[in-house]
Amino acid sequence: MARNPLAGAFAKYVMEARVTDAEPVTASMRRIRLATDAPIAFPYRPGQHIRVQLNDPLSLHGIMRPADTLRTYTIWDLAPDRRALELRAHLYDGDGIGLRWAREAAPGDAVTFWWPQGDFFTSDDAPFHLFAGDETAAAAFGPMLRALGRDARVLGVLESESAEHDLPMPGPHELRRAHRHGAPAASSKTLLSAVAGLELPGNGGAAYVAGEARTCRLIRDFLVRERNWPRKSIKVKPFWTPGKRGLH
Ligand SMILES: Cc1cc2nc3c(=O)[nH]c(=O)nc-3n(C[C@H](O)[C@H](O)[C@H](O)COP(=O)(O)OP(=O)(O)OC[C@H]3O[C@@H](n4cnc5c(N)ncnc54)[C@H](O)[C@@H]3O)c2cc1C
Repeated sequence: MARNPLAGAFAKYVMEARVTDAEPVTASMRRIRLATDAPIAFPYRPGQHIRVQLNDPLSLHGIMRPADTLRTYTIWDLAPDRRALELRAHLYDGDGIGLRWAREAAPGDAVTFWWPQGDFFTSDDAPFHLFAGDETAAAAFGPMLRALGRDARVLGVLESESAEHDLPMPGPHELRRAHRHGAPAASSKTLLSAVAGLELPGNGGAAYVAGEARTCRLIRDFLVRERNWPRKSIKVKPFWTPGKRGLH
C-alpha cells in the first residue's frame, strides 16, 4: 500500500493504542481505557487532552472534511507506568462521530490518538480554585482536582441532567452539584444561577470554566461583571456547542 507522504512528518505526535476496558460510569458517561503500544513519553499536565483519530486528517477524505477527523477527550488518568490512559466520554443525545465512537468502543478496538495539548490545567499559586461546567467539563475537572494538593481551597459547581448523570469525582475536594432536569445545557441558566449562589472568597482566585461554549461565556461574563474578577484569572475552555463540530 502507498504510504501517505505526510504521515512521516506527523508520526512523532501520534500514538497507537488498544481499548482494554469500556463500561458505563454514569447513566450517560463511559469509562474508556486505552493501553498504548509504547510508553507514553509526552509531557503531560492533568487537564490536558488527546485527540482521538476517527478518520485520518492527512488522507484525502480528511483534507476535504477536516471536521470529521479528530475528537477531543481529556485524559482522566495516566497510568504511573505510562502505558495506559483513561477517558470519560459523555454520551449525549445526538449522532456525532465522537459520540458513535464513545458509545461503541469495545475491548480490542485499535485507536490512534494525537498527543496531549492545551493549557487547561490548574494554576500553581492561586489562593483558591473555582470550577464550573457540565458533564463534559467534569471529565476534565476530575484530573485537575486530583492534581491540587489536599490543602488547596476549592469550590465550584458541576452541572448535569440529574443525579444519575453525576460523574463521581476524586477526593478530597467537593464541588456542588446542579441538575438541569430537562432545561437546556446550552446557555445554561441552571449553571449560572448555581455559580451566582456560591459564596466566593473574593475575586483573587483562579477560575476554570468548561463545557458548552455559550454557557462558558455566561459564567465568565458573570464573574467579570458581577463579581469583579480579572479576565486573566479565568481559564475558559469551550468543549462543544450547538451547530459546531469537533471543537478542540
Ligand atoms: C479540550 C476539550 C476537552 C474535552 N474533553 C472531553 C472529555 O473528556 N469527555 C467528553 O465527553 N467530552 C470532552 N470534550 C467534548 C468532546 O470533544 C465533544 O463532545 C465531541 O466533539 C463530541 O464529538 P461528536 O462528533 O459526537 O460531536 P461534534 O461533531 O463535536 O458536535 C456535533 C453536535 O453535537 C452536539 N454535541 C456535541 N457534544 C455534545 C455534548 N457533550 N452534549 C450535548 N451535545 C453535544 C452539538 O449540538 C454539536 O453541535 C472535550 C472537548 C474539548 C474541546
